Amino acid sequence: MTTETLQSIASTFGTPTYVYDANVTIEQYKKLHRAFHPLDVKLHYALKALNNVNILRLLKQEGAGLDAVSIGEIHLGLRAGFEPSKIMYTPNCVSFSEIQEAVELGVHINLDNLSVLEKFGSTYGGNVPVCIRINPHIMAGGNANISVGHIDSKFGISIHQLRHVCRIVEHYDMSVIGLHMHTGSDIIDPDVFLRGAELLYDASELFPNLRFLDFGSGFKVSYKESDLVTEIEIIGKRIAESFQEFCNRTNRDLELWFEPGKFIVSEAGKLLVQTNVVKQTTSTVFVGVDSGQNHLLRPMFYNAYHEIANISNPEGEKKLYSVVGYICESDTLGHNRLLTEVREGDVLAISNAGAYGFSMSNQYNARMRPAEILVYNGEARLIRRRETLEDLIRTEIELPELIHKEVGVDKLENA
Ligand SMILES: *Cc1c(COP(=O)(O)O)cnc(C)c1O
Repeated sequence: MTTETLQSIASTFGTPTYVYDANVTIEQYKKLHRAFHPLDVKLHYALKALNNVNILRLLKQEGAGLDAVSIGEIHLGLRAGFEPSKIMYTPNCVSFSEIQEAVELGVHINLDNLSVLEKFGSTYGGNVPVCIRINPHIMAGGNANISVGHIDSKFGISIHQLRHVCRIVEHYDMSVIGLHMHTGSDIIDPDVFLRGAELLYDASELFPNLRFLDFGSGFKVSYKESDLVTEIEIIGKRIAESFQEFCNRTNRDLELWFEPGKFIVSEAGKLLVQTNVVKQTTSTVFVGVDSGQNHLLRPMFYNAYHEIANISNPEGEKKLYSVVGYICESDTLGHNRLLTEVREGDVLAISNAGAYGFSMSNQYNARMRPAEILVYNGEARLIRRRETLEDLIRTEIELPELIHKEVGVDKLENA
């Protein structure tokens, strides 16, 4: 999206506003799919990253499936038109009744807990196939909060508990059709995937009904120019070779699955915000914008770096700023940034805002969530309207006896 496009979107739709580029989303999807050529890898988009129905439909058109982590996400997927067979449900610490609901809806079930596996076996026996999420105990990714495959993680069934898994599976005559791992986000080293892959290859010998291996996700994207990123072509080629070699060696014909979120939508999105104030303090110059951690949580939550550009004054002189939000909390969007001179009213574009941006936004401080725009077929289209005060109070219920009751009056009556 050009600076002019973004400027025009900000003036037409106002700020704060999320903008997504459909072409970037599609290109990222195709790039990932291509990287595993000649394997026809199955990609299930992890919709927790960004779940607007139009984004889901764009990816459906490309042949994607979905990875859902909640019953709500399954419903969003079905509503967008996905077949249940194209949806993988990968829950963690949910109630058994939610898993039963998912079974009713006909999606693939991925279990990550021995006690749930046993309950599933005693309930369904071999009638409902399952996938098992293995925790390979690999430390992966750039940040302890987003690394989920290590020894202390709550996710998955430990690779060391496979013996117990097999006892349950045999006893209840269960049909295990998939093995899964997801070790974390922001993985830059292909060997992380390959080490995990070797473990799943070994484990696969125990399960004769297998149809697929799912290697999760975690493909890092670039946040700044100097960033190391997963070289997707290299990763894809190495995994595809290793997987084919495994299939040939074991004489099995399995599918290879992944469930990317960030890789597909991160770079496609920007958050447009407007400068409310430029505030010189004794230590820095703050740019205070009409958004904050309520709309983009990643900088405060993960210490994530998001590139920021002043699109109202792209040719201005560069100066050092701290870009902060309007929430009454520490609320930094970018610390010590060189931006072209920022004047009050200028619109800033925050990059890599497609993944875990809107989907993690909230209404803290009684601030409404932003609008969402999709640039599709060369046109900027509103795909979610900005919230209003009505949206904020829609679920609230007023107690009648507390309405219009003035203290004082009550006391007089009682006296
Ligand atoms: C969050 C998540 C993903 C997506 O991870 P990204 O780093 O966004 O690609 C994939 N699989 C599971 C099970 C997840 O929880």
